[in-house]
Amino acid sequence: MEDNFRKPVRGTAEWAVATVDCGIGCPHGCRYCYARAKLVDRLGLVAPAAWSTFRIDEEAVRRKHPLYPGQVMFPAHHDIVPENLAACCAVLSSLLAAGNRVLVVSKPHPDCIETLCRELWRFREQLLFRFTITARDERILHLWEPRAPGYDERRAALAQAFGHGFATSVSVEPMLDGGDVVAMVQDLLPLVSHSIWIGKMNRVGERVSCDSPAMAREIARIERQQDDARIREIYRQLGDLPIIRWKESIKTVLGLAPAAAPGLDV
Ligand code: SF4
Repeated sequence: MEDNFRKPVRGTAEWAVATVDCGIGCPHGCRYCYARAKLVDRLGLVAPAAWSTFRIDEEAVRRKHPLYPGQVMFPAHHDIVPENLAACCAVLSSLLAAGNRVLVVSKPHPDCIETLCRELWRFREQLLFRFTITARDERILHLWEPRAPGYDERRAALAQAFGHGFATSVSVEPMLDGGDVVAMVQDLLPLVSHSIWIGKMNRVGERVSCDSPAMAREIARIERQQDDARIREIYRQLGDLPIIRWKESIKTVLGLAPAAAPGLDV
């Protein structure tokens, strides 16, 4: 196929050639949750009231995984939480034992990460942790990600993984506090060995329910802090750091070339 007709590489495809999950539902309650929008609102696979409880897919846990032709992301449509830690650990062991390079993406609970570091130690050369850390301000985090770990817990989990010698990375997507993102990156830099990805909140109007005047003000703030002028200013301040990577939503604003193929993670 001609290059001009290739589908743009965006979302999880920027990071992985395949995604793996082991159940459905997530207790973290993020207001912008793309997984909920897809699995509940679009596909109707689970009732809205049931989304906040993780339900294990036993068959997915037992599945033997092939060697994928590139980096695999786990999980993609739920998170790793105390309730599903054993199942997540089993799936990760299976993926890694098949020889895969695995990207673990999470709003991390330190206890879960400590267990994964211990259980997956022998696979550490194949594993990259990427923790989603969207803001430092607890008021903002509580509003947007009400039941996910706070900033200090996520930073502590990052320090644990880094300290145990695993490759570490951060995803600031969606960027929830554009005014603080440069300072937050500086705070996290010493704990990151691989990359810090920065991306906008996509499809805000479609995915985020605006159910109060306070929420309307928050949505307006997010949109203001990720307008083209602010994105260019963030790029001006961070663009020289080789560890920073820009998601497709930001590359488009800056006129940077999109990823050439899925799963390159660059
Ligand atoms: S942690 Fe991920 S899957 Fe869970 S609610 Fe938040 S965005 Fe959705």
